[in-house]
Formats: sequence, structure tokens, C-alpha cells
Amino acid sequence: MAAPSETRVAPTVLVIASGNAGKIREFSHLLASLSLEVRPQPEGLEVEETGATFAANARLKAEAVARATGHWALADDSGLAVAALGGAPGVHSARYADSDTSRIARLLRELGTADQQRQEQGLPSDRRAAFVAALAVADPSGAIRLEVEGRCEGVILESPRGSGGFGYDPVFFVPSEGLSYAEMDKGLKGRIGHRGRAFALLEPELQNLLLRPT
Ligand code: IMP
Repeated sequence: MAAPSETRVAPTVLVIASGNAGKIREFSHLLASLSLEVRPQPEGLEVEETGATFAANARLKAEAVARATGHWALADDSGLAVAALGGAPGVHSARYADSDTSRIARLLRELGTADQQRQEQGLPSDRRAAFVAALAVADPSGAIRLEVEGRCEGVILESPRGSGGFGYDPVFFVPSEGLSYAEMDKGLKGRIGHRGRAFALLEPELQNLLLRPT
């Protein structure tokens, strides 16, 4: 019987808009089923993250890297948005302080102050937060062809729990799992976490974009 007539015509090269070796490895793994040639962005290429949202930053980076390389490009931007802090640290998650420990300390301090103000106004405590990951794919001309956003809802703990992960993981608790990000194994965080959810949304769309019937 003849094989189904589907031919892989498009992009064999997908440039990841990052110079971070860990991120390139993680993304290559997440995209393994698409048999693309995944490459890091060229050395020395710096794209400023001047967007007001995660999606805007992902778009900026994907466009710039696609234009600079003439290849398809995938970019991400992610971070933590805390409701009672008006969405902070948000797009400033990485720059909130100069180490993971001091970023967590600042977050707990600011949320403590916000909680106290709510209490004085007779309002209940609000420690709701979400981790958000935006992904954008640009074609070789720099036009954005795909955008997705993965979210994981949680609450900010009063003090850190768990020793895995990185960044804000020890203070981000996911009620549906009864665990902080730092208490989850990699597989669970990969399935229910913001980045995993974003990739789960991206993969079938990317497959549609890259695989066309003859
Ligand atoms: P970027 O998307 O690589 O720019 O990451 C932005 C910042 O968000 C990181 O430096 C961390 O502070 C925070 N962040 C993003 N994802 C995670 C996560 O899975 N756990 C903890 N912190 C994260």
C-alpha cells in the first residue's frame, strides 16, 4: 500500500532565541518529535526585552532572531505574576533582585506588606499567583506565525518549601497538586508547569505549520 503523501517541506532549521545552553537542551528535548534541526541563536546577538508583557517580549526576540539568521525562530519569555502586587514581578522576574534568594526575599517582603494593608482594610489575605510562559515562532522573514501562552495557577507560600527547581520554585505552591514547584519531580513540573503547558499547546500547531500535505 502506498505511504500517506505527506512531505516535510518546511523549515529544517529552527533557531532558539537564547544563548543559554540549558534552555537550548530543554527546548530540543521538548521539540524532539518534530525532527527539526534546532540551533542556538548566533553568539553576540542580544535582544533587549523591552516589552510590557511576556508575549510582547517573546515576539520581539523571535522576530529579531529570525531576521538576523534568515531561519525560523522560536522565543520564550516567562515569569511570575502575583495578583496582590498588580502582576509583579512579571516581565521583571529575572531582574527583581540579584540572586534567587534575594528575589524570593523581596517577593515575600512585598507580599507581606500588601497582605498587612489588606488586613487593615478588613480584606482577606490574597496570595494568588500564576507562572506564565509565552512562546512565539517567527518565519524566516521575521513575521510572527504562532503564539501560545501556558499558565500554572498557584499561591505564594509564607516561607520556602522543597529543594528542587530554581528561581521562585520554593515559594510557588500549586494547590491542585498539594506541592510547591520545588517539591515536584521534573516530570510532574514538566506536565503541569507553565512551560510544559505552553509547549503542549505549541507542538501540534508547529507540526501543522511545518508539515504540509503534498
Ligand atoms: P526567562 O523567561 O528565561 O527570561 O525567565 C524569567 C525569570 O522568571 C527567571 O529568571 C526566573 O526568575 C523566573 N522563572 C521563569 N520560569 C521559572 C520557573 O519554572 N521556576 C522559577 N522561576 C522561573
